[in-house]
Amino acid sequence: MVTLKSSLAFLVLAFALFLCFIMSTGDGSYDYFQFVQQWPPATCSLSRTPCYKPRPPQIFTIHGLWPSNYSNPKRPSNCRGSLFDSRKVYPQLRLNLKISWPNVKSGNDTEFWESEWNKHGRCSEQTLNQMQYFERSDEMWNSYNITEILKKAQIVPNATRTWKYSDILSPIKAATNTTPILRCKPDPAQSKSQPSQPKSPQKPQLLHEVVFCYDYHAKKQIDCNRTGCLNKDISFQ
Ligand code: 5GP
Repeated sequence: MVTLKSSLAFLVLAFALFLCFIMSTGDGSYDYFQFVQQWPPATCSLSRTPCYKPRPPQIFTIHGLWPSNYSNPKRPSNCRGSLFDSRKVYPQLRLNLKISWPNVKSGNDTEFWESEWNKHGRCSEQTLNQMQYFERSDEMWNSYNITEILKKAQIVPNATRTWKYSDILSPIKAATNTTPILRCKPDPAQSKSQPSQPKSPQKPQLLHEVVFCYDYHAKKQIDCNRTGCLNKDISFQ
């Protein structure tokens, strides 16, 4: 009897663990959306291969709309669900996305949209089907112009100036009434110019991306609950 009870308890526990595992992997469970916009000159200087255009767009463009979990914002990804269908990007949507969501690396926009839908978008297919996913992303991009918001705050690309996290955050926060996340990467130019020096906390990092957060339905912009860019000066160039 005792053995039967303990085997039953074990089975229940194993099933609960299995459910937790399924829910934490890429199968469509998410809490909110991260809408990620990138600064193309930074994307290109961080890329291992040169971008196809010597002068990439000088406006923030879409990297992706990512359904995310509070416990692990990198999940879910690569879920089951419909694979990208280019026919669902109808001509007017295509024209819009070519401006808001270009592939700044290779110039093959469709390939970039396909990889973002397949890795992220289909995880929230129950909320936004493929057409709605790209339409909504384009609407989000149009709702606030980060490049203009920063320009009005005299934050413009400059190879010699640096800013604090709060300097860049404040004008975006004021314009959108929500807290975004700034994402930075180490500046490859800096690491190359002083290879023998130890990593210093003073070295500025490159502003690469700005993340807006949206609720589960991708309707309402909400505060992001994390910060980025570590505690270092930020260069924007
Ligand atoms: P994630 O998987 O995080 O959605 O996206 C990461 C991938 O997107 C990386 O491989 C990064 O290189 C790529 N990425 C970011 N911007 C661009 C772009 O403009 N074009 C392409 N092809 N990939 C990009």
